[in-house]
Amino acid sequence: MQLYKTQHLKVYNSLTGQKEPFTSIHEGAIGMYVCGPTVYSNVHLGNCRTFMSFDMIFRYFKHLGYKVRYVRNITDAGHLENDAEDGEDKIAKKARLERIEPMEVVQRYTVDFHNILQKFNFLPPSIEPTATGHIIEQIEIIKEILEKGFAYEVNGSVYFDVPKFNETHNYGKLSGRKLEDMIANTRELAAQDDKHSPQDFALWKKAEPQHIMRWPSPWGDGFPGWHLECTAMSTKYLGETFDIHGGGMDLKFPHHECEIAQAEASNGVSPVNYWLHANMLTLNGKKMAKSTGNNILPDEIFSGTNPLLSKAFTPTVVRFFMMQAHYTSILDLSNDALLASEKGFLKLMEALNTIHKLETNSSSDFDFNAWQQKCYDAMNDDFNTPTLIAHLFEAVKHINAIKEGKESISEMDKALLNNTFNAFIFDILGLEDKNDANSDTDKLSGVVALLIQLRKEARDNKDFATSDIIRDQLAELGIQLKDGKEGTTFSVL
Ligand code: AMP
Ligand code: ZN
Repeated sequence: MQLYKTQHLKVYNSLTGQKEPFTSIHEGAIGMYVCGPTVYSNVHLGNCRTFMSFDMIFRYFKHLGYKVRYVRNITDAGHLENDAEDGEDKIAKKARLERIEPMEVVQRYTVDFHNILQKFNFLPPSIEPTATGHIIEQIEIIKEILEKGFAYEVNGSVYFDVPKFNETHNYGKLSGRKLEDMIANTRELAAQDDKHSPQDFALWKKAEPQHIMRWPSPWGDGFPGWHLECTAMSTKYLGETFDIHGGGMDLKFPHHECEIAQAEASNGVSPVNYWLHANMLTLNGKKMAKSTGNNILPDEIFSGTNPLLSKAFTPTVVRFFMMQAHYTSILDLSNDALLASEKGFLKLMEALNTIHKLETNSSSDFDFNAWQQKCYDAMNDDFNTPTLIAHLFEAVKHINAIKEGKESISEMDKALLNNTFNAFIFDILGLEDKNDANSDTDKLSGVVALLIQLRKEARDNKDFATSDIIRDQLAELGIQLKDGKEGTTFSVL
């Protein structure tokens, strides 16, 4: 299926500030890079929102029939505490505080990240490379930038020379900043600072003797700057120029601006055709962040243990809540919003499960073809999931009217409706038909109901040996059957 040939997708490109028709470099194939997590603590729901936005985008491209190479890295070194050029490495700091190895920190939180994403039904990326696995590639890029004259070495560290780069390139083109303004708004460098200019950023930092995460390099033992890993891994797996680069809005500056500068300085070409930025999840109107403590962990929602919540919510309800906002809009989390999403989601699932029961007629009263196209138009309009969901609810109205005999639907339209619902709800939005936290209990109930039925059949056939085995063995497992006038019920002891 090559739906992409018939659907005309537009995406909002942060680089141009415009919604643009999307064309991939290679027909039918897409290269997409998304900055992954820094694995020094549990992922909070805000992080999940950004990754979920790109999971939805990945799913839609795949649905359209593109072959997508989706690279999402793991930052396991080089991310300094204040995102600027000083402070401790976030992972090394956690290791010091917990008295464990940095790689134990990395392992613990990488596992947590994967577990949470799995609960949210994410598709795994095609490649998930790590910064520490690409030190050699990063050193090669630094050598290249030094050779081209856009970097300098001081005391075992290497810095990118922003003013020099800006003489021939445009540093600030993604974030819309001008170097002159940046210079006017920053403090002078302290006398002991190695950098020539406050805007310069580290490509390689000399490791102090106590720094555990260190690698040999032509400039001595050290570690790479945070921005460099993404340039190294995206170039390695997607090429010097690739289709899409994504991340949260907060990464636009300095991280993505520096990525562009590094790539242009070393390869001489602009690295990315479409820059996509996902907006923030807020709590009490403020950005969710690890550093401020203003955040909720996904498990606190799934268990209902956070004091802000009146109950537990399933991962799929949380996912539906996220999908009800456009990925470029700010979204505020609240108990009321989650309750409303849960209600909406259950309504959608009920309608979906009603479709196959609908009786058909020779024709339909509603134009389901046009409706399906409207669903695609919404997604083609920069992945407008809230509009898509509004169209799905429009169909719910018709499903209910058909069920009540007030409207009719043809056999063909019923199949189209069923396929479209399934494709958009499960394949593209990534939702799952698990509407409560007790789905394991539901499965148990189903199995016991089946055994009760088999026991009844055995008794009807006067096969009391079998019926007793079923009752006794269930009792051994702590499941007690009780025969009454209305039939057999069970309780779990
Ligand atoms: P980090 O682990 O801090 O490098 O962040 C991982 C990703 O989460 C980045 O793409 C950030 O932009 C994104 N992110 C951080 N906070 C939020 C938030 N409150 N809402 C949405 N995305 C966020
Ligand atoms: Zn990055």
